[in-house]
Amino acid sequence: MTKFPIQPFINGEYRSATKERRISLVNPANDEVFTEVESAGPAEVNVAIDAAHNAWEQSWRDISPGKRTEILFAIARGIRTRIEELAATEMTNIGKPISDARDEIGLGARIFEYYAGAVTKFGGETIPVWRGGFDFTLRQPMGVVAAIVPWNFPFPIASWKVAPALAAGNAVVLKPASLSPLTALLLGEIAAEAGLPPGVLQVLPGSGSKVGDAIVTHPLIRKVSFTGSTEIGSRIMELASRGIKRVSLELGGKSPNIVFADADLEKAAAQSPGSVFANTGQDCCARTRIFVEKKIFNEFVERFTSATRELVVDDPRKDSTQLGPMVSQGQRASVEEYIQSARTSGRKVSYGGERIFDRGAYLQPAIICEPELHDKVWREEIFGPVACIRPFENEEQLIHEVNDSPYGLSGSVWTKDLSRALRICRKVESGVLSVNCNNSVHVEAPFGGFKMSGIGRDLGMHALEGYTELKNIYIAD
Ligand code: NAD
Repeated sequence: MTKFPIQPFINGEYRSATKERRISLVNPANDEVFTEVESAGPAEVNVAIDAAHNAWEQSWRDISPGKRTEILFAIARGIRTRIEELAATEMTNIGKPISDARDEIGLGARIFEYYAGAVTKFGGETIPVWRGGFDFTLRQPMGVVAAIVPWNFPFPIASWKVAPALAAGNAVVLKPASLSPLTALLLGEIAAEAGLPPGVLQVLPGSGSKVGDAIVTHPLIRKVSFTGSTEIGSRIMELASRGIKRVSLELGGKSPNIVFADADLEKAAAQSPGSVFANTGQDCCARTRIFVEKKIFNEFVERFTSATRELVVDDPRKDSTQLGPMVSQGQRASVEEYIQSARTSGRKVSYGGERIFDRGAYLQPAIICEPELHDKVWREEIFGPVACIRPFENEEQLIHEVNDSPYGLSGSVWTKDLSRALRICRKVESGVLSVNCNNSVHVEAPFGGFKMSGIGRDLGMHALEGYTELKNIYIAD
């Protein structure tokens, strides 16, 4: 039986926070409460941030780059050693299919390995200033940074904030979503076992409005690195502005999947369902607006629908399962409301959208053909397994409609014409695009959004810039 952590992780150990409310965690595959976690409260937030600042000042800030590298590699090893436990925990907590959960834990380990190597490859520059003398820059850690993460990819997103922040020499206060605190707590434990000094990584489960707000407004927090909804991102930016705190925000999306008539149709139709329905559609990069050139519209819809039918929606414990339940009954109800709104407006739900199984937050993937441009299902982030498909006639119309969205996170273009692919990629307002595939996230490359999808970039060497202050030093001749 998997043993789950049940308390905040502060100063290298689990600490009781009994005065605060407990968070009951429900397994969305069977609707049963499987454990309870003690939520941190304002008192724990203050203790944890003060201690993180002390740990940073007294040890971590001045630790050698080589030692930082060693510790980050040791964390990666710790993750790999406990991959089955971490994957099973994630699966039970949020209904993630076990094979996806294993992949995501492995991705977390790879992120720590990447930033372990990056420690000694990221630095300042020398500048030939006008007056002569010697001018150079330093990339310095900020102090204590907050990482606030969502529930859809809990472990990789926590890793892609914590690893570069530690690599750059900061201490981190990590706040997981209240629905998904467990693997974040285990990461704290693994980091401590790997030799990270106590206090350098604090993990505080708790509600967004109480714990999240208290973290963001604490005077010793220098930066808030947030991934979550655009609504909460905007609130965090507002709160952070009072202390002129740095923010990076990875927010919502309503990404396009663009299929031209000259594309490899078999491949595009076979892979496109995964780009919108994987993780049961709970993916900020989900390509939920599918634009198909008019002359292949019917053929694409037919092929896309039959590939969708093949997706295995089942118990997340089975290796064969591709889509597990949604994260909660509440999330499923919210998605069902969107599907109902399309039906009420007379749109055609050509496939799916029905509940399956008596227990659990399962939902069959849904396909809505030819919604209107002003429909909620076309404009808003649904965050569930709902694909909308519309035909387009020409590139001009396509670009106008693609960019007619407050979001700009991700997207795909399917065509055999490379010039056209490049032309479209240049014009689409989006932080991440892929051609003839669906890959949005690469550990080594920047990830983030345009417009209301966010500010700043995670991953790659670019993320390190976001966890440092740039200092200029001039020495006279
Ligand atoms: P959410 O915005 O509700 O919560 C995200 C985190 O913020 C959680 O830890 C939550 O507890 C915390 N929070 C909530 N209120 C807060 C407050 N007032 N102050 C501080 N923290 C607060 O998002 P969610 O429901 O967990 O995740 C789904 C959303 O995340 C979707 O919109 C999705 O697109 C987005 N997302 C974006 C990316 C990306 O990289 N762009 C990746 C994954 C998810």
